[in-house]
Amino acid sequence: MRRKKPFQVDEAVRLIHEAIRPWPKAAMFELAEEGFNSPFEQLIACIISIRTYDEVSLPTARNLFTRARTPADISQLAIEEIDALIRECSFHERKAPQIRAIAQRVVDEFGGALPCDREVLLSFAGVGPKCANLALGVACGEPFISVDVHVHRVTNRWGYVSASTPERTMTALEAKLPRPYWIEINRLLVPFGKHICTGSLPRCSTCPVLGMCQQVGVTTHR
Ligand code: SF4
Repeated sequence: MRRKKPFQVDEAVRLIHEAIRPWPKAAMFELAEEGFNSPFEQLIACIISIRTYDEVSLPTARNLFTRARTPADISQLAIEEIDALIRECSFHERKAPQIRAIAQRVVDEFGGALPCDREVLLSFAGVGPKCANLALGVACGEPFISVDVHVHRVTNRWGYVSASTPERTMTALEAKLPRPYWIEINRLLVPFGKHICTGSLPRCSTCPVLGMCQQVGVTTHR
C-alpha cells in the first residue's frame, strides 16, 4: 500500500464539503433550512430520526409539524394522535409519549420555550447526547459534537480517533477536533457516510481523502 500522508482535518473538511454537494443534506440541517430551527423542533425531529432513515424521518417530522410544531400545540395532542402522525418512524409507539411528555414539561417548566441548556435536554426520556448536541448545535449555534453512526464510523476509519463507541468517539473528538468544526462534522459526515464512506464496501477508490485516510478496519471496498 502507498504510504499515506498525515491526516489533515482542514483539508479533509474542504474536500468532503465539495464531495457531498450532489447529495441531500443531513436531515436536521435540511429541516433547519426549511424553518424548523427552534431547539424544540430540532430535538423532536432528532427523536423521530432515531433508528430511522432520513428518507422516512424527514417527511414524518414535517407531517407532525404541519399539525403541531410548538410545545403548547403538541401538548394539546393525545398520545394516540402523535403516534398516528409519526407512525412511519421506528419505535413510534415509544417516541409518541416521549414527545408528548417533553412538550408538556416545556410548557409547565419553561414557559413554552425549550432553553438551550444541555442538562435540561438530557433530562428528557428518549434524549441522549447525540440528539441533545445536535439540537444545541443546529438550533442554538452552540459548539457541541453530535456523533451518530456515520460520524463514529468515518472518523475511526480515518484513524483520526480510535474509539469503540459513539460516546467515546465524541469524547475523543472533543479533545482533538478544532472547535469551528464541532457542529460542521455532523453536517459533513452524515451524507459522506451514507454515500461514500458507506458501512459496507466504502467507495475508497474514488474517495477524496484516500491519500490521508488510514482505512482502519476496511478489508474490502469499491
Ligand atoms: S478512503 Fe475509504 S475508508 Fe477512508 S474515508 Fe474514504 S471511503 Fe472511507
